[in-house]
Amino acid sequence: MKNEIQEKLEQLAFDCTTAFCYGCYVKANKGVCPQCNSDDLMRHLEGVGCEWGTDWVIKHILQEELTEIDTDEVFEESIRGSYSEVTEVGWMKFDTIDLMKSQDPISWRIAKDEYIDYLEQDEEIVSFDGGSNYYWKHDLESL
Ligand SMILES: [Zn+2]
Repeated sequence: MKNEIQEKLEQLAFDCTTAFCYGCYVKANKGVCPQCNSDDLMRHLEGVGCEWGTDWVIKHILQEELTEIDTDEVFEESIRGSYSEVTEVGWMKFDTIDLMKSQDPISWRIAKDEYIDYLEQDEEIVSFDGGSNYYWKHDLESL
């Protein structure tokens, strides 16, 4: 699934850029430089610049078009949906999430990491940088 998305992103990056000869500093719309006939070309993204390859274009598209997931927020939401909002201890009432987080931050973090792993394995979220940033799959598909 991830490879498929990666491929589509590369295609998209390719489609929204033009070939560019850095040596002559001209666009090479036909895949070869109109001046020196070189096919060793960069990609040029209007208003952004030119560089080799498409990785940087993909990065730019992701940054511009998508918002990375706030994993803390996503996990918190899922927990809020599963437990009562308020927990009573003796005569006191606490926000359940705040109580859990403050009383056992390690357990909270482990559970969060497991939940994010689960979402990734379930192919609901995707990361292209080894888990630093995640995106919703349905957001990617709408690109
Ligand atoms: Zn050239």
